[in-house]
Amino acid sequence: MNSGFLKSVASLLQVDGEIQEREERFRALVQNSFDIITIHDNEGATIYESPAASRILGYPPGSLIGKAPFQAVHPGDVDRAREAFHTLATGSNRVFIELRYRRADGSWIWLEIVGNNLLEHPGVQGVVLTSRDVTERKHAEERAQYLANYDVLTGLPNRTLMYDRVSQAVAYAKRSRERIALLHVDVDRFKMINDSLGHEAGDEILKAAAERIKRCTGESDTVARVGGDEFTILMPDAGRLGDVTACATKILSEMSQPFPGEREDVFVTASIGVSLFPDDSRSADTLTKHADAAMHSAKTFGRNNYQFFTQALNEEVQQRMVLESGLRLALTRDEMRLVYQPKVDLVTREIIGAEALLRWHHPKHGLIPPARFIPVAEESGLVGQIGEWVLRDACRQIHHWQKMGLSPQIAVNVSARQFQQYDVAKLVSDVIGEAQISPESLEIELTESAVMHDAEASIITIEKLKQLGVRVSIDDFGTGYSSLSYLKRLPLDLLKIDQSFVRDISSDPNDAAIVRAIITLARNLGMKVIAEGVEDDAQLAFLNAYGCQYAQGFLFGQPMTAEELTWRIRPPEQGSAAG
Ligand code: C2E
Ligand code: MG
Ligand code: MG
Repeated sequence: MNSGFLKSVASLLQVDGEIQEREERFRALVQNSFDIITIHDNEGATIYESPAASRILGYPPGSLIGKAPFQAVHPGDVDRAREAFHTLATGSNRVFIELRYRRADGSWIWLEIVGNNLLEHPGVQGVVLTSRDVTERKHAEERAQYLANYDVLTGLPNRTLMYDRVSQAVAYAKRSRERIALLHVDVDRFKMINDSLGHEAGDEILKAAAERIKRCTGESDTVARVGGDEFTILMPDAGRLGDVTACATKILSEMSQPFPGEREDVFVTASIGVSLFPDDSRSADTLTKHADAAMHSAKTFGRNNYQFFTQALNEEVQQRMVLESGLRLALTRDEMRLVYQPKVDLVTREIIGAEALLRWHHPKHGLIPPARFIPVAEESGLVGQIGEWVLRDACRQIHHWQKMGLSPQIAVNVSARQFQQYDVAKLVSDVIGEAQISPESLEIELTESAVMHDAEASIITIEKLKQLGVRVSIDDFGTGYSSLSYLKRLPLDLLKIDQSFVRDISSDPNDAAIVRAIITLARNLGMKVIAEGVEDDAQLAFLNAYGCQYAQGFLFGQPMTAEELTWRIRPPEQGSAAG
């Protein structure tokens, strides 16, 4: 062997020794690292794990190898993790991510992971992840976040978070044109409770009060503790004033229930101020201030009550309450009557029937128009009872007419809430059975907005009504944004053109165009048309010219009693016989 060969063998052995030495150094570094070091193939499967993995995650050494990737990643983080890995494995050199990972004992650990793409590196050929346990830091951050936004005593959002929520709700409502209510609740004389019973007892009462207030609110409402004994409720969907007053009334009554104390029950009351968007203000700031101001006026009103920021609203609510309590008694006190307004065939000029319209004779306030009390009946849930009475009374009258050999077509109005919340088809079926009338004499008037509110459900109800043999019409047509595709599917008999279009039919070209369009639409859909609110000959001439079949209005007759209508619809010989 020549010496050159021996030399090169010796130098090779030396290189080999150096490589081995270096490898060992790196292995020691990796194995003693506090961070978990793992190597993955391009699919994410683990091909190497450092000892820190089992130390930190609690699985037996080597158990990550070959396991399906991402299996122990928190479901809330797994999509992000996959995406990050994919970015890394398909080109990016370095990726940083924080995620939750399940330990062997089932607990979640926060890992801060740095990924390096070393797939092309001949010595590694993998994706290297270095993961550090940052659970404590994460929890401290979450806690800080929580403390910045929530009240520790009650667990409710605090003033800061509430302000955010109000601002968001205002921004949203500006677009959606919805009404927002802000209720500011202050516990009356809370300082006295704190001073006399001690702060601990005071805290218990506040916690219980928070629970009670939450119970009075809906799912989409936010309840916050905004000060010592002050709470705010955000109602982002407060279209109905009745819902707001119902919530305030409920809170007052819940708060006045005794709070069990150490030695004896504690009695408290609350004062509530209400501000409304957009009625009172269009900014989150002023809305909050106005709710607070209204709360103070509730205090000066003797506490244990609620006040709206605007005086006009207070009066309206007051009047509504008077109406509501009167309405509860109106039926039993026999204060309701139906009147009938004739409907006329424009070709024959004969009265074909009438619309039954409700009249309330209040013992103190006189005649109250339905436009005033029907909305109150809807909000207070009395509309079911009232609507049922109307239907029964109208059918009783139809029976009476049928016995006399008369068969006017009688239309009964069904309100939106009644239509949506009650089984109208079942009620109609029961009532026509009881009254023993032929169903074609009855017509049900539904408002356009009530029908379109949930068109699919409406189709089913209307079909049921049609199967009973009664007629169905759409009232106030043109005011409720009908969807034409639904209109086509509704088995309707009649469209009633809203009187707001009929009013200026002969002077306003827009109204004239709308009325012509409705008449054409009805004809194409195979429905009849009736115009309501016809008061003069010019309107009548217009309707005649464009082929409207029926009309109703003061021109043909005011709403009248059943007896008066009987006189109008009797054949002449019978009329003279009776007269
Ligand atoms: P509606 O169903 O559209 O009834 C037509 C209204 O127009 C009636 O008012 C009627 O008196 C009035 N009207 C009739 N002809 C003319 C006219 O030529 N000119 C003018 N300016 N007005 C005319 P009313 O009786 O005050 O009823 C108002 C609304 O109250 C009704 O509108 C209906 O939505 C509701 N309503 C009435 N009775 C009942 C009922 O028994 N149940 C329900 N749910 N709602 C009812
Ligand atoms: Mg009507
Ligand atoms: Mg109408």
